[in-house]
Amino acid sequence: MLAKTMKRAVLEKPGAVRVEEAPIPAPGPGEVLLKVRNIGICGSDIHIYEGLLPFVTFPVVQGHEMSGEVVDAGGSARLKNGDRVTIIPRTLCGRCPDCEGGRTNWCRELEIVGVHRDGVAAEYVCVPEYMATKIPDGMAYDVAAMIEPLAVCVHACNISGGLDGRNALVIGAGVIGNLTAQAAKAKGARVMIAGRTQYRLDYAKAAGIDICVNDSRESLEDAVAREFGGGADVVFECIGVDASVNGSFAHCRKGGTVVILGIFGEKQPIDMFTLQDKELRVVGSMLYLESDFDESMALAQTGSVALEPLITGRFPLEGFAEAYRAIEARRSPIMKVMIEVS
Ligand SMILES: [Zn+2]
Ligand SMILES: [Zn+2]
Repeated sequence: MLAKTMKRAVLEKPGAVRVEEAPIPAPGPGEVLLKVRNIGICGSDIHIYEGLLPFVTFPVVQGHEMSGEVVDAGGSARLKNGDRVTIIPRTLCGRCPDCEGGRTNWCRELEIVGVHRDGVAAEYVCVPEYMATKIPDGMAYDVAAMIEPLAVCVHACNISGGLDGRNALVIGAGVIGNLTAQAAKAKGARVMIAGRTQYRLDYAKAAGIDICVNDSRESLEDAVAREFGGGADVVFECIGVDASVNGSFAHCRKGGTVVILGIFGEKQPIDMFTLQDKELRVVGSMLYLESDFDESMALAQTGSVALEPLITGRFPLEGFAEAYRAIEARRSPIMKVMIEVS
């Protein structure tokens, strides 16, 4: 028998997280009830916490990177109580042309958990059954909560036009930059990662990334010329400011591909001259497909991508506000911060 109430973290307005008691939700038709184990804090969560995403309405329960256990499988034929799962944290309508065509990340009614609808920052959460995805036996719950950000990066690699035997430059060495670099390397690319925070580059080096460039200390232009000759075949932009977009164009070879993963708050002045002159192919990357999720699970399971070493902090659910404060203060290295719910 479950208790009747649970703890839940609510972002009442930017900067104000409150942990409250709430009833444990009951699964509606087509839903399953999960006991939450781990929640990863994402860069987008910080943007919301700081009030930077105008389309978010408050109060909101945050959290979309999670792992947990099925405690009420409802009418699911696929899942049973006790199954260990992560979620693909977005709704699908299942009937628009893009859902029917298999491009579910383009679904016209897609809503992201913890952004457009309440998220998983609670001891228990109900989600549509189709979101829940079983994790391999032996995969730790904290690692499972990082499959979602890895899937973002794997998707970007999969739409880059091919990486095997090619030179790839990743601009930005946060969690997404690091995971993109690891995924690109796992897919056979020779990878350079560039950033300005040395400890983030040290994580990339520890993960075996070929070339790590601190471009506040050395010229990225020189490093690209030295290592990649006329420019990278593929550049992944993982920051989200105009300088990094234009840098991506500058460091890409003629006819190369630039994949944009960064999330931009504003419209950017873009160097159209370089784009046209080099015949660049510029591709935006949005979320992932189910196949990217499956591939991420396999990359993590085989150790081709190391997720656990990127976890730099762990807080209980009651410590949600403290976790945000620690991330904002940046007094110690911050990569992926985990909320360990149970
Ligand atoms: Zn995320
Ligand atoms: Zn749809």
